Amino acid sequence: DEGLSRDLYQLMEASANYFQQQLRHHPNQQQVNAYVEKRGLSKEIVEQFSIGYAPDGWDNLMRTLGQHADAQEKLLAGGMLIANEQGRRYDRFRDRLMFPIRDRRGRVVAFGGRVLGDGTPKYLNSPETPIFHKGHELYGLYELRQRHRDPQRVMIVEGYMDVVALAQFGIDYAVASLGTSTTSEQFQMLLRSAKEVVCCYDGDNAGKEAAWRAMETALPLMKPGDNVRFMFLAQGEDPDSMVRQIGKAQFEVLIDQALTINELLFNELTKQHGSDKASLAKHGITLIEKIQDEVLQNMMLEELATRVQMNNAEHM
Ligand code: ATP
Ligand code: MN
Ligand code: MN
Ligand code: MN
Repeated sequence: DEGLSRDLYQLMEASANYFQQQLRHHPNQQQVNAYVEKRGLSKEIVEQFSIGYAPDGWDNLMRTLGQHADAQEKLLAGGMLIANEQGRRYDRFRDRLMFPIRDRRGRVVAFGGRVLGDGTPKYLNSPETPIFHKGHELYGLYELRQRHRDPQRVMIVEGYMDVVALAQFGIDYAVASLGTSTTSEQFQMLLRSAKEVVCCYDGDNAGKEAAWRAMETALPLMKPGDNVRFMFLAQGEDPDSMVRQIGKAQFEVLIDQALTINELLFNELTKQHGSDKASLAKHGITLIEKIQDEVLQNMMLEELATRVQMNNAEHM
């Protein structure tokens, strides 16, 4: 209900403030700052994304914000506390670098927390709550909108660190899909935000699979004039490591070389079905049939027909 939601927003904001304050003043500050430095994050970017620190210990947040029973219930409902089988409550996020996730109105609705170093899980995310539905939010979208009222282009990446590092290097139009593969709702938000959407997943097998799934997810939503493109990074790289290595200008060269959704679709179909033009046509049609927009669907069918003929000619 509305009252609960309002209280949750308030507690999430208070939690974000608490974590930011801990990043500046906690006794363990040196160790956290060493990690922040190791990841190459500037003071300005830490500030811009309201990055904080959840201290080690079982009840730091609970003691700070959950003294009243009522507030404690709400911290639990907001996913900031966990209750064990005996009903004992403790902080969900401990000794982690904290990335607040804001909704489109700028309200903190969830957190992603990264372990400092090599522990597991590497990232811990808020659970689904009354104010947080994972597939409906994009990390960094609010921050992007603060910078660009009407962006030409948005980039979708896998991780928090990717968004933040890209922004620090001047590629300040990236958002992340929060660990899941990019959902239909998220693509809808992306296509509403800008005419050009560039997908840039990690340079590994999971990233390649994510690109193919993204293609299948985006296709039904597209209209003529929408421009969805795909970047493929070198093996083992992600946008964070890549932009740090090659810098903004070179990264933008890679963006300019990104495949269009048609190129990805037809390249991949040709790769998979090669000389078998019946199977190429069949799989192509299956994909293109999902396009809702009739004009775009017809354009794609024509291109498929041309490709099948070309393919035919090559193999005569
Ligand atoms: P880093 O650069 O800090 O090592 P990353 O962002 O490159 O992290 P990936 O392993 O590529 O990490 O994962 C991409 C995203 O997937 C993360 O930002 C996070 O949102 C999500 N993720 C990764 N590992 C986990 C996990 N163990 N549990 C939940 N979400 C995860
Ligand atoms: Mn990955
Ligand atoms: Mn990374
Ligand atoms: Mn990564």
